[in-house]
Parts: sequence; C-alpha cells; structure tokens
Amino acid sequence: MYVPPLSQVKERAPPAVGGWNRFWTHSTRRRRIRHGRQRNHRWRNPWRSLPTARALVQGAYVAFFLLVGVEFHSFVAQAVSGGPVTAHRPPAVEGFLPISALMSLKYYLLTGNYDEIHPAGLTILIAALVSAFLARKVLCSWVCPIGGISRALSWVGERTLWRRRKKEVLLPVWADQALSSLKYFLLAFFLWAVVWSMDAMAIMKFQRGAYNHAADAKMLLFFTEMSFTTAVTLAVLVLLSVVVKNFWCRYLCPYGALLGLASFASPQRVVRDRDACIDCRACTRGCPVEIRVHEKPSVWTPECTGCMTCVSSCPVERCLTVTRKGAATWSPWLIPVVGLGTIFLFWGVARVTGYWNSYLTVDQLAEAYRQARELAHP
Ligand code: SF4
Ligand code: SF4
Ligand code: SF4
Repeated sequence: MYVPPLSQVKERAPPAVGGWNRFWTHSTRRRRIRHGRQRNHRWRNPWRSLPTARALVQGAYVAFFLLVGVEFHSFVAQAVSGGPVTAHRPPAVEGFLPISALMSLKYYLLTGNYDEIHPAGLTILIAALVSAFLARKVLCSWVCPIGGISRALSWVGERTLWRRRKKEVLLPVWADQALSSLKYFLLAFFLWAVVWSMDAMAIMKFQRGAYNHAADAKMLLFFTEMSFTTAVTLAVLVLLSVVVKNFWCRYLCPYGALLGLASFASPQRVVRDRDACIDCRACTRGCPVEIRVHEKPSVWTPECTGCMTCVSSCPVERCLTVTRKGAATWSPWLIPVVGLGTIFLFWGVARVTGYWNSYLTVDQLAEAYRQARELAHP
C-alpha cells in the first residue's frame, strides 16, 4: 500500500466552524502562523520597499498634476483676458478627458486619422490600455492622481477608523461584487453612447465643435466654479473613501473599469503557493481593493491594480509570486517597470512624432474658452 511521505500530507480543517470547531480552527491557524514564522524567521521579504516606492511615485504624480492644473489655470485666464499669453497649455490636462479620448480612439480605428484637437488624451488612453495588458492597471496604482488621493484617504481611514478592525475586509463579498458592477454599468453606458451610437462622421463633427475645443476649460470650471451639488457629492465621496478603501476607484470609475478589462487579458498575475501559505492574511489586509488573496490560487480579476502590496507583505519565501502564464516567475519590480516604461515610451514617441500637442492655436483656444460657460454638450 502506498503511504505518502509526511511532507505531502496536508493539514485539513474541520468542515464546520462553530463551537469547539471554531476553537480548533483558530488555534490551528495560530499554530500554522507561528510555525511558518519560525521556519522563515531568517527570510526578509526583498520587495518590502515596493509600496514606499509606489507611494512616492504616485505622490510625485499628484504634485505634478497640481502644477499642471495651476499652469493651465494661468493659461486659460490669460487667453480669455485677451492680453499677452505667457503661460503654456500643458497637454497632460487632456488625460482628464477620457470620453473625448474614447471617441478619438474609435475615429482613429475607423479612419486612421489621429485626433488633432486633443492628441495627448488619445495617446494617454492607448498607453494606459497597452500598459494594462502588459502589466495590469499600473496607471491606477502608480500614476493616476485620483488614485493617489484615494489611497491617501484610505491611509487616513486605516490610521483612525480601522485601527482596531479584526476583519481583513470591510464589506461582505456580495456587497463588494454588487458595488463593483456599478462602474461596469457606467462604462457600458459610455461605450454605448460613443462606440455604438456614433459613426465616424458624428465623431468628426463633435471633434471640430466648440464644445470639444473648450472641453479642458469646462473641466477646469467644474472645479474652480463648483456648484453646491458638486461640492456635496465630492464631500460624500471623500468621506466614503475614508470609510471604505478606494471607494471611487473600486466602485464608480469607468476608466478604471476599462483598464480592468484590458488587464483581465494580461498574462501576468499574482500566484499563491497554497502549500507554503501560513494563512496569516497579511496579503488581504494590505490589498487596496480588498481582494481575498489568501483564499485564491491566483489573482485573476479585473479589480487587481498590480500594485504588488500583497507580494511585498507576504512573510513566507516564494509563497506569493508574479507569474507570467506558462513561464517562470517574475520579479514584482518588473510590473511597474514594464507598465511605467510603456507609458513613457508612448509619451516620448508622441512628442517626437507630433502627436502630443494640440493643433489649435492660442487664438482658437481663447475663442472657445470665452464661450465655455455657455456651451452645452451637443
Ligand atoms: S480607477 Fe479611475 S480614478 Fe482610480 S486610479 Fe484608476 S483611472 Fe484613476
Ligand atoms: S491583489 Fe495584490 S497586486 Fe492586486 S491589487 Fe491586491 S495587493 Fe495589489
Ligand atoms: S499568501 Fe497571504 S496568507 Fe499566505 S502567507 Fe502569504 S501573506 Fe500570509
């Protein structure tokens, strides 16, 4: 009779958790964590500095986009005043015009003509989609300033509301899934409104219209001349982001949903070695989108941002790894390097080839900006 060696015999938890079984399960888990820590006490996670690097890079992007906002505000004010214009219009503001970029992408695919009004917006969208496919949602976890602010609000929540929280995740699975679907409904609506309903001629008319020319100024007015309703909505979102980790990004952002679908096809993912895992749940506690990493053989979901916090939190050697499908394990550093490298590559090529700066002159922009308050969506 074949008797498996002791190392291959897996510990089995009792089926029901309650009464004495609950005590057994908890004490077994504690024992596994203690034994695992003893076994790995000499191993220090070599990627533990990754979250700090990520926070620094994303903080730098928040500062960069604040400067972009200040520069753009000066440009709009000078252009509208009719006096000399010394400020520059930073093309990066077009990153905040995702609907226009989506239309431009469809127009480009149908006609081969690149958007000349907001070319940077289209370049950023294509770069984000390609980087999501190659290295998951690196734009969300390393670049996007809204994601950075959202993580900072989560940090405030961690230091105040959740300090004594015993649970790894706040919301039950059904509530998390129901809320997560909201952003896909929003994305479906925009895809229907743009990709399905508009043909090339309709998009071209929209691109050449005054509304599209002034879209960046309208976005600026949204923040500088905020209505009471907008202010209350933003305040509620801020509060919700303190209470629930990354509320906006997880549940409402259609741009993140689109990148999630692109990253779902990505060959890279975080893989867990079930035999090595000691069930300490540090991975799940650290995950900014509360994925239950400790329960999964591999993290294959569009919600994963590829931030690598889980991999850098794991106390067991080679337990959580980044694996390319059918190939060897990758260093977790390669995810941001490949993702950010892709984004920078697209930016560099767009600059060199003239697909970064708008073709609109200062006079054309000034004329559109002067009408910005009155312009309604066509
Ligand atoms: S989900 Fe949206 S807002 Fe959040 S980080 Fe990603 S793109 Fe930015
Ligand atoms: S599963 Fe890991 S890589 Fe994915 S979002 Fe969570 S912590 Fe980041
Ligand atoms: S995979 Fe998660 S639960 Fe398992 S040892 Fe690593 S951090 Fe702990």
